[in-house]
Formats: sequence, C-alpha cells, structure tokens
Amino acid sequence: MAPIRPSKIVCVGKNYAKHAAEMGGEVPAEPLVFLKPPSALVGDGDDIVMPRRSSRVDYEGEIGVIIGTRARRVSRDEAWSYVQALVPVNDVTARDLQKSDNQWTRAKGFDSFCPVGTPVPVSEVDLTALAVTTTVNGEVRQHGLVSEMAYDIPAIIEFVSGIMTLEAGDLIATGTPDGIGPLAEGDEVVVDVAGVGSVRNRVVKEA
Ligand code: MG
Repeated sequence: MAPIRPSKIVCVGKNYAKHAAEMGGEVPAEPLVFLKPPSALVGDGDDIVMPRRSSRVDYEGEIGVIIGTRARRVSRDEAWSYVQALVPVNDVTARDLQKSDNQWTRAKGFDSFCPVGTPVPVSEVDLTALAVTTTVNGEVRQHGLVSEMAYDIPAIIEFVSGIMTLEAGDLIATGTPDGIGPLAEGDEVVVDVAGVGSVRNRVVKEA
C-alpha cells in the first residue's frame, strides 16, 4: 500500500537533457507538466501490473517531492520551505500508448503505475548529494544527479504553484534521467534516491 495520499501527483517530463535527447527532442523552453492519478499509487513491495493493452511498459526512476504547506504562487527562493519530504518514485509508463496518444493520461495512469517509497523529511536529507538510480534485476539502468536537472526543484515548485494550488501532501515527480527501458514479467525494479531510500517492485502481467 502506498504510504502517502496526495490530492494530486504532478509530474515533470523531459527534465534531463540526455533523457530528452533519447526521447528524440530537447529540454522544453518551460517545464513540461502532466498529472498522474492518485489511484496509480502503490508502495514498496507491491506489484507493478502490466496492462494487456500495452506491449511496452517502462520504468522511470525519479526524485519525488512531497509538499508540506499549501503552496500558491511560491517563488523559487521560498520554495524549499513548502517541501515536507522527499521520496523515491517510479513514473511507470506504457511507452507505446504514450506515443500513440496525444496526451499521456492513459499511458501514465494505469493502476500501479506510481510506486513510491517511504517519505523522508527534507531536513534529514543532504540536498547537494541528491541523485536517483534505477536498477532492474540488480543491474543499473539509470543514474541521474539533481544537478543535471534542467529545471531544479525550486524552479519546478515556482512553476507548478503558479498554475495550480499545491495542497499539503501533494507529490511532484521531478523527471527521469536517461536510460529508460522496458520491463518484463518477473523483473524486479528498484528506484533509489541517495540519502532517502528506495522503492522495490516486482512486475506481473494483468490476469
Ligand atoms: Mg517521468
């Protein structure tokens, strides 16, 4: 079961230049944001269920930010004071459906497509050493440093809170580094955020 109950999950796309390049593009001129439904959340040890209607389901390891105080039009300078915790997130994506649909609600929104680990208070985390690593069956597939983000966490909070009010408990997934790839039945995928912890999930097929 997921350890958080956000009113919404806001995700940032193409926030690392090398990932934008592997997707065939560049970092967008403004942060690219989309929503995942909270019904997609699962916790550490839960299964990721590959839907029958997709033939390619990918992992995307990301650094998650949990809002602590209602945030509306927050400036980047004050953004960290609105953050309660950090958490590892897997922005699981049906890559084939992402390509065939004009928007990503379906591709990103299946049940179990948002594994999250245990939140760790931001005061306990070394923010200068933040990094995300994804392994599949023990093999490293992704490694991204927070310093490689095109839009850093304060910039993301400023941008998103200028669009929609962020409620306490809301989750922001800050984008995935390069190295995305498919999952197969029986795989074990782990997203680890340095100094925060990890979320580990096994992949199963929809019955
Ligand atoms: Mg993502």
